[in-house]
Amino acid sequence: MRWAKAVSGIHQFVESVGEAIRTTIDVHHHYYPQKYLEFLERSDISPHPSAPLSTETMEDRLARMDQESIKAAILSASQAQPYLAQKTRAADGAKMANDLFIDVAAQYRERFKVFAALPLPHIDLCLAEIERVLDHPDVVGITVTCTILTEPLDHPRFEPIWQELNRKKSVVFLHPAGREDLEWLHDYHLTWMVGAPFEDTVAALRLAMSGMTQKYRDIRFIVPHLGGTLPFLLARLLRQSKDATLAGELATLFYDTVSGSVDALTAATHVFGADHLLFGTDYPYCTGEEFHHHQTYLSEAGFSTNELAAILGKTSSALLDKR
Ligand SMILES: [Zn+2]
Repeated sequence: MRWAKAVSGIHQFVESVGEAIRTTIDVHHHYYPQKYLEFLERSDISPHPSAPLSTETMEDRLARMDQESIKAAILSASQAQPYLAQKTRAADGAKMANDLFIDVAAQYRERFKVFAALPLPHIDLCLAEIERVLDHPDVVGITVTCTILTEPLDHPRFEPIWQELNRKKSVVFLHPAGREDLEWLHDYHLTWMVGAPFEDTVAALRLAMSGMTQKYRDIRFIVPHLGGTLPFLLARLLRQSKDATLAGELATLFYDTVSGSVDALTAATHVFGADHLLFGTDYPYCTGEEFHHHQTYLSEAGFSTNELAAILGKTSSALLDKR
């Protein structure tokens, strides 16, 4: 494993469950370079009231990670994707984002890696960007939103991208787009409160029900937020879909632990298995206290030491290791 060095400041919680946990990796961790947001003209994203930690410097962020014994975080752009109609702007945006992220990984060696963005919906440009960045040692996978603008991930037009990512055995980190175009979610912050976990839910279901999980077995998909509402709705989903393979296909996906609810975590563990859960924080969309809780609540769900070690970092370590 290339991330060999443990960080300082090992937390008491970590000490209590042993050496294995010192590979804690945060797979759901966002970064918004100012230059990139200006390029996208997305002044709405950061700083934002829902992202209390977004004013921190990179040194603040590292100190916070040290405090929680988080050895490394995988940077992703969340909903700030370069999905632009004009091809040259989409290509420039993806290149700018990925290069800025890679710069951070290079500056803080062993602390950050990158889920690269793609200039969707332009297939030829995406294939070129995959070719340009996916083999970079600091890029450990690709990130896409749960829908590409208004189209689902299983739309036939995206097949060349999945074929290539399957050939490359890539990790693909999904993230809600924050569908502001859905009018019934406009009020009360519902787009993110509930629209986002429904995006996770539907994206995972479409991967499984379209046959994509079977067709692209070598892509390791990560679904955020414990799969949205999947654990809660599974019985209904199985009953209505009449698809005997559905539960098994959903369990081939990986799910990050951004939730904070022990009950939800317990349900997700029953449905997906502890070996398909990956620690995440959704930084900067949390207070310092919530950032801390994203890790400590894992210890309240009755996991064995080995299961906890796997969730905190051993599983993602193996998943993201490109050797
Ligand atoms: Zn997020």
